Amino acid sequence: MSGEPRAPLVDSFRRRISYLRLSVTDRCDLRCTYCMPERMTFLPKREVLTLEELYDLASGFIDRGVTKIRITGGEPLVRRDIVDLIRALGRKLGEGLEELTLTTNATQLADHADALVRAGLRRVNVSLDTLDRELFAKLTRRDALPRVLDGIAAAKASGLKVKLNAVALKGANEEELPDLIGWAHGQGHEVTLIEVMPLGDVEEERLDQYLPLDTVRTRLEERWTLTDNAASTGGPARYVDVEETGGRLGFITPHTHNFCDWCNRIRVTATGQLYPCLGGGERVDLRAALRSDDPQEQLARAFDQAMLIKPERHHFRMDERGADPALVRHMSMTGG
Ligand code: SAM
Ligand code: SF4
Repeated sequence: MSGEPRAPLVDSFRRRISYLRLSVTDRCDLRCTYCMPERMTFLPKREVLTLEELYDLASGFIDRGVTKIRITGGEPLVRRDIVDLIRALGRKLGEGLEELTLTTNATQLADHADALVRAGLRRVNVSLDTLDRELFAKLTRRDALPRVLDGIAAAKASGLKVKLNAVALKGANEEELPDLIGWAHGQGHEVTLIEVMPLGDVEEERLDQYLPLDTVRTRLEERWTLTDNAASTGGPARYVDVEETGGRLGFITPHTHNFCDWCNRIRVTATGQLYPCLGGGERVDLRAALRSDDPQEQLARAFDQAMLIKPERHHFRMDERGADPALVRHMSMTGG
């Protein structure tokens, strides 16, 4: 469908919802210390949406005015039929869907890059917190940095536009961030830094991981000239241009600068649970709607319900009193 969508999704704070982050699996081949514990319990497969259900869901959202979809997880590339889903959704580009992207840890990107491009993908976001092999193994609990770097190189060679995301971690990659940014810009990749969020139990104290990005920016300014860039992708990042590297750098700062006023996004887990806010427990069960006798009608109702309960803002807190809310939900469920 093209043109004006049927009853666009608008929440009770008059924010138009146009961006869906769709998780296709809760499974992952890494165990990033800020994301999940080593002994993570994954969901039984039957609870996860099928390829057809994921497609129907995404199509339903496009009909209601969603123009941008990011496929995420868990690690989306561990799902065997992922390229089929990208191909099917790729056909919706120009038919209501304007942008289709994927967030990946890149461990399997070298194997999939060409197929993803053929399926219609043009951009990937790769999560990479360090270029130091030992630190990578410590942070992800897997010795996979060479594979990840191969994956990034393969993506670039296939013509995918690569954007890197790095979580800023106190006492871990803190000192290395300028080198990581310099390397990425040298490769032609934009970088976005993210403040750690208190999602799920991860065996480490959240406050021990938390590095405010105001501090990082001040330190970067001792070395480089940063100029604010008005560019916005409709997302929570604020951008600067780094004069010396010629690259662009984003900051996602849920704690130091709230970004909820212009939130345009919703998240759906691999089991079809719609979370209208990453930082809240509000939820609508889309899988029940999809598996009901009248999926179209039930989905429409579920979408409307989600618009009613989307909160005005998140209530994450990270300060000397501790990390709040310590949501039981891991980032690998809602996909970041
Ligand atoms: N596995 C893929 C990856 O790592 O890119 C996609 C899913 S992962 C959950 C999406 C993003 O969430 C990654 O960039 C990761 O660094 C970030 N992330 C995970 N846990 C986080 C947390 N507690 N706080 C902030 N970012 C987190
Ligand atoms: Fe896996 Fe991504 Fe979570 Fe790391 S951040 S454990 S790669 S889902």
